Amino acid sequence: MKTLDYDLADEQATVALGTALAGAIRQLQGQGFVAYLNGDLGAGKTTLTRGVVRGMGHKGNVKSPTYTLVEPYELDNWQVYHFDLYRLADPEELEYMGIRDYFAAHCCSFIEWPEKGHGLLPQADVTIDLAYHGEQRKITLAAHSSTGKQVLAELEK
Ligand code: ADP
Ligand code: MG
Repeated sequence: MKTLDYDLADEQATVALGTALAGAIRQLQGQGFVAYLNGDLGAGKTTLTRGVVRGMGHKGNVKSPTYTLVEPYELDNWQVYHFDLYRLADPEELEYMGIRDYFAAHCCSFIEWPEKGHGLLPQADVTIDLAYHGEQRKITLAAHSSTGKQVLAELEK
């Protein structure tokens, strides 16, 4: 399995890695992309996603979808979905949200607390683990599909 590890010295480094990841996703031929974000509260999942959303071309604010469960961004050639499933009571709620439409070509999803949606989410192309390391953070990205490998290979360039 292909993995990449980085030390993230501060919040800006986390945002910058998210932006670089967006650059790699934009090299895909429009196939859908799904990332699971794992890590404790405050580990930097939302911060990383903020970098991704900006890197995909969003100019405005990126707010945490803590209460809305998902925040959609309609960008040039991509729809980006930022999920935070922490407050999801039952995976079936995802059905009512119509999430099947979210996992299509030209759609890219970043999912915080994916275990809450177990059974209803597609497999991840890349899993991202964020961990506290003193005041800093460590991140590991692992590819689980050919699309995921393509993205990590691009990120590594
Ligand atoms: P999560 O979504 O995982 O709960 P957030 O991204 O909302 O976490 O919050 C992360 C917090 O940690 C923010 O207050 C941010 O300033 C800080 N932070 C993010 N990345 C780093 C980093 N690499 N080093 C230190 N602090 C960070
Ligand atoms: Mg968060």
